[in-house]
Amino acid sequence: MPYRITDECISCGACEAECPVEAITQGDDIYVIDPELCISCGACADVCPVDAPVEE
Ligand code: SF4
Ligand code: SF4
Repeated sequence: MPYRITDECISCGACEAECPVEAITQGDDIYVIDPELCISCGACADVCPVDAPVEE
């Protein structure tokens, strides 16, 4: 299942550069993951300071 970024996101931007398929972009309030691109590698969750990316 693709990952999703929850409202816990503080928009630090750390995850964006880690995504191997460039599925993460900055949204209006928080960063967002394109579920069509996400390959569920977990790299975003590994670098996130607040554990905002979750697998669903
Ligand atoms: Fe990108 Fe991997 Fe996070 Fe999916 S799980 S958004 S592929 S870093
Ligand atoms: Fe948001 Fe976490 Fe990504 Fe930072 S690393 S932008 S807090 S999801």
